[in-house]
Amino acid sequence: MTVFSGVTCPVCGDLCDDIEVTVKNNVITDVKNACAVGAAKFLNYSKHRRVKPLMRKNGELVDVSLDEAVQKSAEILLDAEYPILYGWSSTSCEAIRAGLELAEDVGGVIDNTAVICHGPSVLAMQDVGLPGCTLGQLRHRADVVIYWGSNPWSAHPRHIERYTAFSEGRFQASTWRRYFLRLSANSVKKKALRAVNLALMRDVSVPPVIDRRVPYTLTREERKLIVIDVRRTRTAEIADYFIQVEPNKDYELLQAFRVLIRDGELDVNEVAGVPVETLEEVADVMVGCKLGIIFFGVGLTMSEGKVRNVDAAISLTRDLNVRTKFLIMPMRGHFNVTGADTVFTWQSGYPYAVDYSHGYPRYNPGETSVIDILCRGESDAGLVIASDPVATFPREAVQNLVKSPLIVIDPQVSPTSLMADVVFPSTFVGIETGGTAYRMDHVPLPLKKVVNPPKGCLSDAEILQRITLEVRRLRRDRGK
Ligand code: SF4
Repeated sequence: MTVFSGVTCPVCGDLCDDIEVTVKNNVITDVKNACAVGAAKFLNYSKHRRVKPLMRKNGELVDVSLDEAVQKSAEILLDAEYPILYGWSSTSCEAIRAGLELAEDVGGVIDNTAVICHGPSVLAMQDVGLPGCTLGQLRHRADVVIYWGSNPWSAHPRHIERYTAFSEGRFQASTWRRYFLRLSANSVKKKALRAVNLALMRDVSVPPVIDRRVPYTLTREERKLIVIDVRRTRTAEIADYFIQVEPNKDYELLQAFRVLIRDGELDVNEVAGVPVETLEEVADVMVGCKLGIIFFGVGLTMSEGKVRNVDAAISLTRDLNVRTKFLIMPMRGHFNVTGADTVFTWQSGYPYAVDYSHGYPRYNPGETSVIDILCRGESDAGLVIASDPVATFPREAVQNLVKSPLIVIDPQVSPTSLMADVVFPSTFVGIETGGTAYRMDHVPLPLKKVVNPPKGCLSDAEILQRITLEVRRLRRDRGK
């Protein structure tokens, strides 16, 4: 039995690097410190996996040798006029680098999943910059934490415990006791309300009245957690204060905060469904903090306004820095989507949607982003790695993706791999293969290999390198 400590969890952008994994006879038997999602991946990763490459013959996916699959993939990519290479956020930086080399070789478009999550954040950062920091700094110093359009309790389950409200920092104490007391009080309140409703035979389906009063805890010299979202999420339940913004009105709310932070007047009673008095009180809390942070998620980047929402959020942070110290950070989802943006930028100068079809990198999201190319029906071959666009892209894009020859590199069986013409089951990065990944705050962390992969199963990077070599060999043979 071997116990690996300091293992990095390859699931979400938090990349928790304190995981302890116990391995017996090349099987993971126990996982400590991970959340339920992370533990489930370590304990169940190998269920329902394939280990042999597959190729579509007479309409059926059949087992083939690795050499045959590599040769077919190289032919598909070399014969294509405008291939797309998509995914990259759930694999290592080493594989991403190999993928960029292949994209350049075949003159294709390479894009990562930022295009469907934080693409607008990237564009806004290019416009107005980003006052950022590391998560470690926030753990020790942040006394006002705002989650805007993001629900870490469900999507990044250890984020609050490791880096914000429930973490024990050097200069800021954990607030989990306060949360526990509030949870107990809420539960008693709900039970009492239910009893009263039953006794009075009242209709319990009537929605509860939202209490907009700012609680006294927001005025205390302690760490405070504020959630701004369109619905009361699990994270909102544990927050000191929850602001419910009307859907698609984030931009208005951000600009209203900007006016108040600059001591301006708002001559309306409410903005985005929130009374102006409430906004004034929350603006006072922001200005009065020692170090504040806004974490924003796809609730902000993918609602109406998109890039302009993020632009306004960064501008609000900049305004706050005139009065105090405030920072802002996107909540990145896939464990190495930050690494994908970073490696793309090293190699090509651009973070996503990079078009090599002219022989040099071009970047024009909207024109060179994969969803737009697919919706216009312009690509004639695809390579998808560590991603499932068939399950997540718009229908029109999916129809065009599967119309052309499709190569999938993924250890898991997914709707995309079931529609493919060539499938490479690779090793699981961070479990069967080591590598590097970037945490959401741009800190690079090592991914560890804790078990051996099945015989003959190659890593994403090795498969991509073999396809690149085969493309070059074929091109030489064809005299191109
Ligand atoms: Fe893994 Fe994310 Fe859970 Fe951390 S919070 S253990 S990185 S799934």
